[in-house]
Amino acid sequence: MTAYPDTQLFIAGQWRPGSGGRRIAVTDPATSEVIGHVAHAEIADLDAALAAAERGFAVWRETGVFDRCRIMRRAADLMRERADGIARILTREQGKPLAEARGEVLAGADIIDWFAEEGRRAYGQIIPARTPGVTQLAVKLPVGPVAAFTPWNFPINQAVRKLSAALAAGCSIIVKAPEETPASPAELIRAFADAGVPDGVVNLVFGVPSEVSEYLIPHPVIRKISFTGSTPVGKHLAALAGQHMKRATMELGGHAPVIVCADADMEKAIRLISGSKLRNAGQVCVSPTRFLVEDGVFDPFLSGFTAALQAAKQGNGMDEGVQIGPLANDRRVAALETLVADAVAQGARLMTGGKRIGNVGNFFPPTVLADVPLSARIMTEEPFGPVAIVNRFTTLDDAIAEANRLPYGLASYAFTRSALTMQRLGLEIDAGMTTINHLGLALPEVPFGGVRDSGYGTEGGSEAIEAYLVTKFVTSMPG
Ligand code: NAD
Repeated sequence: MTAYPDTQLFIAGQWRPGSGGRRIAVTDPATSEVIGHVAHAEIADLDAALAAAERGFAVWRETGVFDRCRIMRRAADLMRERADGIARILTREQGKPLAEARGEVLAGADIIDWFAEEGRRAYGQIIPARTPGVTQLAVKLPVGPVAAFTPWNFPINQAVRKLSAALAAGCSIIVKAPEETPASPAELIRAFADAGVPDGVVNLVFGVPSEVSEYLIPHPVIRKISFTGSTPVGKHLAALAGQHMKRATMELGGHAPVIVCADADMEKAIRLISGSKLRNAGQVCVSPTRFLVEDGVFDPFLSGFTAALQAAKQGNGMDEGVQIGPLANDRRVAALETLVADAVAQGARLMTGGKRIGNVGNFFPPTVLADVPLSARIMTEEPFGPVAIVNRFTTLDDAIAEANRLPYGLASYAFTRSALTMQRLGLEIDAGMTTINHLGLALPEVPFGGVRDSGYGTEGGSEAIEAYLVTKFVTSMPG
């Protein structure tokens, strides 16, 4: 079995334990064994990280954009060189199949490269003046030190978007990474440190999430907040950021609708969307969850989709051929069992799955519920696991209304051969992202984010770097 490293804090260019000596145990979700520990930051450590980020910002903002880009691209190359080792660490602490973990590391490298290049194109404007001799400039400047809070479902991917956008813009950053899965994000930080990012520009802390966020967000050194996690926590942190007039990006929960029309290529729809449902055992903010299938094709879709999920090999993500690992933490297993039992009690049909597997590790099978009434909790609460709800619709208007019923608005999916339907869905589904007839979300160069209760801001595409820049107006004339 792969050696799993203990994780330390990274502050001012040094790996160090928490000053109080406290540590948090890390568990392998496939075996329930404690495999290592992560250092727990005290307030004194957070103060040290804040001071380091302040000094780091002064250095990094003065580092030429060409050099910033060069260092970032070196970090991306180090991630590629180290991908196999980092993937094994990621799978051991998080549970996802090794191939997915490796894909996450390599996708992280692509994200670093893309933002490094984008930093070189953070152009301002010259605005024509009313008065001869006046020069009016709108210049883009880094907003300042960033506090980023990242979750356990994609320990590298969720951190790398914030880190790369911040560094490309010229900001320093303190990352509060997940205590459940600390070692793989630490490897991401290590790649930046080894690539030559100056001391203090990148800092890593762990602790009690609420204590860390409540200390960092109001602190005057921090000028920008970015959070990925659940909607209730996001609302709390956004309120705190607002109270202290801090800019914030919020990447929150979703409950993604999937509209399958009768004219769709059914074989392709089942193949693509079952793979998407299995990815990371459904612990994905954009995971497809509320399937709306047109009457005429409901039965064939339901049976084909259920069979595809049942055929997936489940087990320890370290084992060859495994397509779905355990859930990352035990509380999701209990949450899913409760949601499924509630739906069944209210009349839903359980087609497959629904109950924990065994008593070692956090294994929960792919689960399909059909004909679920709106009164079931799972119709409004995000399952965040390998559970799919398959319901039917008669008219496209009804499907769109159901897709838009919840306050969430993150990802949405559709399958249809009709150009008219595609156009309507693209415009009328109230979500941050819609992908039709293929799985095209989450590339570095395209917007990634939600609307309404799913948050605000984008973590991809050319807009993503804007969140880390301020526009300053400078006007002058010869004196
Ligand atoms: P949770 O709400 O307790 O935590 C979610 C994440 O937020 C964790 O990483 C946690 O460390 C962090 N967090 C919690 N309270 C915080 C605080 N006060 N300050 C700063 N960070 C804080 O839920 P959970 O049981 O860990 O995860 C389940 C739920 O979280 C899911 O239902 C899902 O909605 C959400 N989630 C979303 C994403 C995403 O990609 N958008 C990722 C992970 C979890």
